[in-house]
Amino acid sequence: MPTFEKVIEDTAFNLLKLAVVQLPSDVKDALKRAYKEETSEAGKVQLEAILKDIELAEKENTPLCQDTGIIIFYVRAGDKAKDLNLIEKALQNATRRATKEIPLRPNAVDPFTQKNSGDNTGRYIPYINWEITNGDSIEITAFPKGGGSENVCTIGMITPGEGVTGLKKFVIDAIIKAGAMPCPPTVVGVAAGGGADIAMKLAKATLLRPLGEPNSNSDLANLEKELYEAANSTGIGPMGLGGKFTVLGVKVEYAHRHPASYPVAVAFQCWAARRATARINSDETVEYLTHKTR
Ligand code: SF4
Repeated sequence: MPTFEKVIEDTAFNLLKLAVVQLPSDVKDALKRAYKEETSEAGKVQLEAILKDIELAEKENTPLCQDTGIIIFYVRAGDKAKDLNLIEKALQNATRRATKEIPLRPNAVDPFTQKNSGDNTGRYIPYINWEITNGDSIEITAFPKGGGSENVCTIGMITPGEGVTGLKKFVIDAIIKAGAMPCPPTVVGVAAGGGADIAMKLAKATLLRPLGEPNSNSDLANLEKELYEAANSTGIGPMGLGGKFTVLGVKVEYAHRHPASYPVAVAFQCWAARRATARINSDETVEYLTHKTR
């Protein structure tokens, strides 16, 4: 019988493997739909190559992109869940094992010495976003984040007087400026308010919401649709080679803001929109929520 720490480690290992090998079905469906509806020949060719790559990765059980990202986890821990103190070490061990066994590209570099740790762990990496919820289960999401899309994430301060019009302009400017760099079609997470750090955290976390799941706030659902249509009228297209599909979806989140500040964060996720989630119950059974495991 494995220890609880080993259950967490094995689950996190499986999540990393599922995430880098197999996209969640909402992302695959969105890419298939984009392929069907893309009118630009160059864009269609790119989407076809992406779909073939996804198929091959699943068949060969290998990562679908050579950049297996920097490792981020989201942990939703029930207030009655046991042994929460074991999670951090278990996620680090899972990351080391995944780097060796899957394998993952070593992507954790000390910004001052430029030394690569070689095993995807380091100071604050894997980064763990914690949330305390009700209950006795633990939900873990593996979110390997590619460098190309990370490089164009942006945070800015518009003036409060500019309001939502200023926000829309900021987001579309960021998408145009990013161009081909984030490997489009992307998923774009937008967050307004809070502070600089809060806005970017919310913008990234909103990327976890499945494509096709509308915002529960109808005004924000409309804003998402408007931004989606505006982004897809830029003509950047798949891999920046022109076409209808620059984004697969836009997600919007917000926090209340200081009267004098209006932060807007734009987080980009490439077509390889990898994420995998599982729930570990108090009896140590594990349910995989984003992927079929059999
Ligand atoms: S941005 Fe995404 S698709 Fe592009 S190279 Fe990086 S991980 Fe791969």
